[in-house]
Parts: sequence; C-alpha cells; structure tokens
Amino acid sequence: MYSIAALADPRIPDLAGTSGLPDPGPARPGSVTRRRPRGRSDLPDIGAGRTPYAGSLRGVTAPAGPAFPDFAVLFDMDGTLLDSEKVWEVGLHELAAHHGGTMSADARARMVGTSMAESMEILHTDIGQPYRDPDASVRWLEARVAELFAADLLWRPGARELLAEVRAARVPAALVTATRRHLVEVALGTLGRANFDAVVCGDDVDETKPHPLPYLTAAALLGVDPARCVAIEDSPTGVASARAAGCPVLAVPCEVDLPTAEGVTVRPDLLGVDLDYLRKLTA
Ligand SMILES: [Mg+2]
Repeated sequence: MYSIAALADPRIPDLAGTSGLPDPGPARPGSVTRRRPRGRSDLPDIGAGRTPYAGSLRGVTAPAGPAFPDFAVLFDMDGTLLDSEKVWEVGLHELAAHHGGTMSADARARMVGTSMAESMEILHTDIGQPYRDPDASVRWLEARVAELFAADLLWRPGARELLAEVRAARVPAALVTATRRHLVEVALGTLGRANFDAVVCGDDVDETKPHPLPYLTAAALLGVDPARCVAIEDSPTGVASARAAGCPVLAVPCEVDLPTAEGVTVRPDLLGVDLDYLRKLTA
C-alpha cells in the first residue's frame, strides 16, 4: 500500500535529481512511502481538470498483472464502503450534548462529506456557540469516533463483495477519504488494508473534497488516467471532487440524495455492481 506522505502537493514538480528511482522517504508505520519521480521536467500539472496521467509517475506502479491494465477503482470510505456516516452521526450528537446543545437534522445533512473544520463550524453555529474552539471539538469527536470505529463498523450493502472482486481481479484500487489518517487506520482493520494499493486521507493532501486533488493524487499513485478511474461516492462533496478530477462516478447515496448528472450514475447501493459494470462507466 502506498502512503502519500511524500506527495503532499503533487502539483508542484520535484525536479531535483535525475535517477528516476523511487526514494522511500520517511515511511509511516505499516505503509510504504513513495516519492514523486525525480528528474522530470515534463511532469503533468494535476490541478483542476488536468489530464492525463498514465505512466507518468515512475516508482509508483499498479499491482502486477492487473486484469484491466488501464482501469482502476477509487473508493470513498464513509457512507460508501462503510456505514460509518452513522457512527459520525452518533459522535456528532454526543459532541453537541457534551457542549450542552442539540444538533439539528438540517445541520447534520449539511455536514455530510465536508471537512472536519467545516463540520465544526456548522455544528457550533447550529447549537448557538460559534465561539467554540474547533480544534478542541475535533479532538473530542475524533477520540469518540475512534472508539466507535474500533467497536462497530458495518459495510454498506454490496460493498464488501465488490471490493473483494476488485482485489481478486488485481484491478488497481485506492481509498480516497476526507477522514484523517489516524481514524482511517482504525477503519482499515475492517476494510482490509491489503485491499488497497493507495490510501489518500484528508490530512495527506493540501486540499480536501470537493477539491479534485484527493482523486487526482489517488489516480497518480495508481498510475492510471483519472478518466479511467471509476470513483464510488455517497456525498455531493465527494461527487464534486471526483468529477472535477475527471473521474466517472458511481454514486450510492447514503445520507443525502444525489442527482444523476453528466458522468454520474446513481444507484441505491452496490448490490449487483461488478467489475464489468464499473468498467463500462469509463467507456
Ligand atoms: Mg462519503
């Protein structure tokens, strides 16, 4: 599994050195860190809407012998693979109560898929306490959610089977989530870290969803053109991120409805979705 610690801002070409060999760099526990290739003056800019990518990052390769060599699947985590939005909801309600308030359903709906900072702003405003320290609330919430993640994480319908099929076929796969890495590491105990060739967390990149950078980074790590990467998402923010990156999207709404749009196919869940179905979305 690739960590992207050394790819914090892949939009900025690293032109130092000429070897083209991967530099392992500082690794996180349990992961392999790959640096961006060196010595390339023609590295593509992967800012908004830029393509293509295939084969442009030396030292970062797809798994050997994929069944579909120019095709990858990028999975959102919360609400898409795991029914973890419910866990977040429990934590958020408890945080509001911890502050002596009550979170409204409207505020909760607006938080889905947003960054932690945005969610805290919404929550604090909703309970009439905009003066609250967002960092303190984040610490409280993440500690509670970590407990809940470790105790009770459920798969969304069809997600476990699809992930197993993707892995069995050796199709490159990445997890692309706005959730921070220390919580993702807990969730990977349920998801299976060996199921992903790359994991892009909210604190791994300078911009999070709806910015395209998380999906562009995942596609780059897999060495697959974003247009050949199907992104599976459950939130408007995640869909916007993937579409801005140029990925076709399979949307499986969890907490809030999602409309069909250009490049966005909507299904109620992942039951019955297989690789052939996903591959056709890239056509
Ligand atoms: Mg989600």
